[in-house]
Parts: sequence; structure tokens; C-alpha cells
Amino acid sequence: MDKPIRLSIYKITLKKWKELKMPRKMRLSDINLMFASLSQNNPDPQTELMFQNPYTLLVAVVLSAQATDVGVNKATKRLFAEAATPEAMVALGLEQVRSYIKTIGLFNIKAKNVLALSKILIDQHGGGVPEDREALEALPGVGRKTANVVLNEAFGKPTIAVDTHIFRVSNRTGLAPGKTPDAVEQQLLRRVPERYKKGAHYWLILHGRYICKARKPDCASCSIEQFCLFEQKTS
Ligand code: SF4
Repeated sequence: MDKPIRLSIYKITLKKWKELKMPRKMRLSDINLMFASLSQNNPDPQTELMFQNPYTLLVAVVLSAQATDVGVNKATKRLFAEAATPEAMVALGLEQVRSYIKTIGLFNIKAKNVLALSKILIDQHGGGVPEDREALEALPGVGRKTANVVLNEAFGKPTIAVDTHIFRVSNRTGLAPGKTPDAVEQQLLRRVPERYKKGAHYWLILHGRYICKARKPDCASCSIEQFCLFEQKTS
């Protein structure tokens, strides 16, 4: 007699536990409205990184790992004036590249990566930037996030790179909850309507950077507050 009762209690407890652990998800109809609002406020979102062509975009994104866009722009302004192509970067040499980017964190390894990837672009891609994820991710210092930014910004692909801001906004709002950047990216690709996928990356980054900030989200100024499921909104 004991066994079924225990089993049934266990099942109920497990169900409740699962319910408690289930992340809350924003309704698809609200996602649509949320992006309509974000796109209305900023119809043509742009990266805040300065670049002149796909190559300088790639270099700027590689340099931006664990650095601010403002800091990267300060360094690349002079660097790109001297070297806006892989050939010019290789001609500049390691010491010069290091001196241009020394204000950016991890500049030693980043300088080596920029030179190594420039040589590969010359040797294997005719000096151009490949429009292909696999080839991009094979370059030194280029991971999935960097490849996503380049594919989106330089080639207009509907990719969504998940950085710290997008990870936070996606989880707080219930737009695309996930425990890892990859999990959030997959959720975003499934849940963001097609027509908003190209701009989603920048709308979410800018929203996380200036409104839904890490320490204290500015919920009172938030244009998507009505759709957000975050339980600790600020007043
Ligand atoms: S309401 Fe607050 S927590 Fe939700 S997205 Fe806006 S700023 Fe972020």
C-alpha cells in the first residue's frame, strides 16, 4: 500500500519542482510587439564600433573582446588610418600593431591574432573576409560571437550574437531564457520573428547597455516594460 502513495507524492513534488524551476517565457505575440516597439524607436540600428569595410569590422570585433566599444574606437581610429586591409596590417608588423592597441586589454595576444588572421585572409581568401561561418571561426581570435557579428553587420545575415547584454536582457525579460550564451542564441533564433532577426542583435545590445543595465535596470524609462517578465523591476 505504501509504495503507490509514496510514488504519487514523489510525482507531485517533482512536478511542482519542475514548475518552480521552469523559466518564464514571454508570449510570442508580446515578442512581436516588443520588437515593433524597439524597431520604431531605432529603425536602422548600427554597431557602435567604427569600421570601414568587412576587414576592419572583423578586426574591431576581435579587439572588442572584454573591452568597451569606446576604448576600441579610440585605438582603431589611428590603426585603421594606417592599415585598413590585411596586406597593410601585415606590412605594419607586430610591434606597430601592439603600439596602436596597447590601451586595450589583452593587447599582446590580440595583436598576434590580428596579424595571424590577416595572413590567413591573404593566403586563403584572396585578402577578403569569408562570408562563411566555418571559415570565420577558423581564424585566430574569432569565436561564434565574433563570426555572428561579422555575418550580420558585413553580410546582412540574420544571425544574433549573444554577448553579456543580450544574455541578461533575454533572461530577465523571458524573451529567450537559457543558462548559456549558446542556449540563449538558439532560443532567440527560434523565437524572434524573421523580419526582426537582422536588427535584433543591436536592439537588444543597446537596450541592455543603456536601459536594462546589469546592476540597476532603468525600468521606469523602459519602452518594453509592459512585455517584460522580470520579477524585480525597479520603480
Ligand atoms: S522592465 Fe526593467 S528589467 Fe525589464 S527589460 Fe525593461 S529595464 Fe529590463
